[in-house]
Amino acid sequence: MIKFHFELPELGYQFGDLAPMMSQDTVAFHYGKHFSAYVDNLNRLVDGSKYEGLSLGDLVRKVPDGAVANNAGQVYNHMLFFEQLTPTKNAKQPTGELMFLAEQSFGSFEKMIEQLDSAASSLFGSGWTFLTMDEVGVLQVMSLPNGDNPLRYGHVPLLAVDVWEHAYYLDYQNRRKDYLKNLWLIINWRVVSSRMA
Ligand code: MN
Repeated sequence: MIKFHFELPELGYQFGDLAPMMSQDTVAFHYGKHFSAYVDNLNRLVDGSKYEGLSLGDLVRKVPDGAVANNAGQVYNHMLFFEQLTPTKNAKQPTGELMFLAEQSFGSFEKMIEQLDSAASSLFGSGWTFLTMDEVGVLQVMSLPNGDNPLRYGHVPLLAVDVWEHAYYLDYQNRRKDYLKNLWLIINWRVVSSRMA
């Protein structure tokens, strides 16, 4: 029987490429230690269990709680997070469709960022703030605790903001607002836009 293994996805940039907004040390620890550990934990938990063979998306949607749900959620969320980052010099503007939906849903793209920033700033404890698209194509801001994911609530996650302290503590200590202010500068909106498909 072939074991189904989840793998740490390759980054589209080097560890140091996101500096000074996100330092080489932060990317090295966050990706190389935290994200990597979630992938290893998930493989260890799923191999030989009743969940073996389920896709990552199915694990996130269908496993209600416990260690498998926590680690599957964290693997999924970190895949979204690291894929959507890019060095500032390569930053891409959102597509026309995302701009249009942002205006429909929030009034403007800038107001959408303000709402995301505000939600991520005020999320208590460890968790994630997402930009999501619901069943009828309305964009929404959704904050969830720990490793939870919008897929479980019928929403498609377009953007994932990690507000666990491990995402920013080396660079910003307790200054989550400064982390967020600089995070917006390294978002690849082309990747975010592509998730609407
Ligand atoms: Mn993280």
